[in-house]
Amino acid sequence: MSENGHKKIELPALISVRDLAQSIEASPIQIIKKLMNNGVMASINQTIDYDTAAIIAAEFGFEAVPEREQAEEKETGELPVWRQMIAGEDEQSLTRRPPVVTILGHVDHGKTSLLDAIRNANVAAGEAGGITQHIGAYQVEHKGRQITFLDTPGHAAFTAMRARGAQGADIVVLVVAADDGVMPQTKEAIAHAKAARVPIIVALNKIDKPNANPDNVKKQLGENGLVPDEWGGNTMVIPVSAKQKQGIEDLLEAILLVADNSDIRANPKGAVIGTVIEAQLDKSKGPVATLLVQNGTLETGDIVVAGTTFGRLRAMFDFRGRKVQKAGPSVPVSVMGLNDLPSAGDLFQVVESERQARQIVLERQEAAQKEVSAQKKATLEELFARFQAGQAKELNLIIKADVQGSLEPIISEINNLSKGEIKINILYAETGNVSENDVMLASASQAIIVGFNVQAEVAARRLAEAEGVSIRLYDIIYRLTEDIEKALKGMLAPEFTEKVIGKAAVLQVFTLSRGNRIAGCKVTEGEVRRNSKVRLLRGKDVVYEGEVASLRHEKEDVREMRQGFECGVGLKNFNDIQVGDVIECYILEKTKVD
Ligand code: GDP
Repeated sequence: MSENGHKKIELPALISVRDLAQSIEASPIQIIKKLMNNGVMASINQTIDYDTAAIIAAEFGFEAVPEREQAEEKETGELPVWRQMIAGEDEQSLTRRPPVVTILGHVDHGKTSLLDAIRNANVAAGEAGGITQHIGAYQVEHKGRQITFLDTPGHAAFTAMRARGAQGADIVVLVVAADDGVMPQTKEAIAHAKAARVPIIVALNKIDKPNANPDNVKKQLGENGLVPDEWGGNTMVIPVSAKQKQGIEDLLEAILLVADNSDIRANPKGAVIGTVIEAQLDKSKGPVATLLVQNGTLETGDIVVAGTTFGRLRAMFDFRGRKVQKAGPSVPVSVMGLNDLPSAGDLFQVVESERQARQIVLERQEAAQKEVSAQKKATLEELFARFQAGQAKELNLIIKADVQGSLEPIISEINNLSKGEIKINILYAETGNVSENDVMLASASQAIIVGFNVQAEVAARRLAEAEGVSIRLYDIIYRLTEDIEKALKGMLAPEFTEKVIGKAAVLQVFTLSRGNRIAGCKVTEGEVRRNSKVRLLRGKDVVYEGEVASLRHEKEDVREMRQGFECGVGLKNFNDIQVGDVIECYILEKTKVD
């Protein structure tokens, strides 16, 4: 308590109305009203600066103090295996290793150009142009220190690594085009990096463009939790032009600065462990994989297990294509000798003998099979069980809605639920249908996707099924929040998994007397059942989800129709059927609980 009886509260340089409401336990509406009284018009997602927030906080009986600079989020959750290994090493054996950097950002903002600019600017002059090899990672030297760049732009690779718990990168460079600003994939990248607790440096690219607007981008970054350091925040924002090769040195400098503030160490003499960056089948060399060493020193002749592949390393090459015998921590090497292609993101380790390698691979294969049958799902029930067991204190959500206007009330309702023991963590809230990227992020972060008035793209559904990610779609906000509330109380109705039982192609559309339309179909796969659920697919869109209203075969009502037969299908409360649509039939099976 302060002298005037006000409770103290720490506030950051910029805060959204929603977060302010939460921290002073007021409703966002109350805050918006107070702001209006003070002449500030702001919606729930908008950010206000510290001074404004402090005034509002005071009106609610709080005395604001600036948030401490380095108030880093505490590390929770499980560390990736290789980090655990390093943590287990004797303190004295640990030495500094080069930071591993990955470049993320929205499409066309210049990730590839920046990777090329850094690569070309920093290889010894004699070699420039000589490096045509792309092995998925390269190293540059700045002021006598090495930096390793993962040369697989786009966050698919990063997500793959994260989803497998590898988390190879120490630092994320987020490329944002100064003429375009923060875009959906920028936000996804921020969510990824935050979820992995990897520090972010922003490369404000394309500053050479006449319509570049750095200040606007900085404002947007602030609104997305990356307040530039020049504005009192913690994020370094480095203006660069990948095209004109400007600012590259500054960016490398920033990377080393951030590296110095992070614990980037390893034991070069310790057990060898690392991550597979990429792998390809070469016609003459066989499987060739790029391995990033994270602890220990990898040597030619070592017997390596990578995911479910193994082999004795016949030869190793650095990113320049030069043969090497050894690779220490943070060094990427392209290796030959594995018996098959490992997956990007797989961990590798060195073992004593081929026999041991075979044994490990066998165990992994068996475990993988078990996992498929048990499918570790991030269902609401499963998560709740983990809350109860004290293993989880956060419910991660990804929210997709049709329009910005519906996101706001959903977020505020959900935040209202997020009180007490369990914290609801909204990783990402955006407009648009549920996409494959959303599912990847959900899978990597053990999150659930909730959609409001949106659909899930077909590819997203498939991936969700394969990855065991829950997608829940709603058209009434109240039902959405009710479900989450129920889940938090452990009362959610059992989850059902869907099983597709058949598909039918719409060949003709008939209109009946009362205007109801019937799809003349041919069953192309499995069977169509009268009592099943259906979804109508048009290209990659789902245009209807519901139930079969009628199923007929040559004027007879039938209960089911098998592959190869033609039938008439009516859909409950839906008439906009078109030739070329596909009717997918599915049933809901109760998920088995062990
Ligand atoms: P990515 O999709 O993020 O990998 O983006 P690219 O590196 O392929 O770049 C997309 C486009 O932006 C290309 O046409 C580049 O030439 C252009 N570009 C990239 N960096 C710059 C820059 O600094 N200035 C300008 N003017 N154009 C750039």
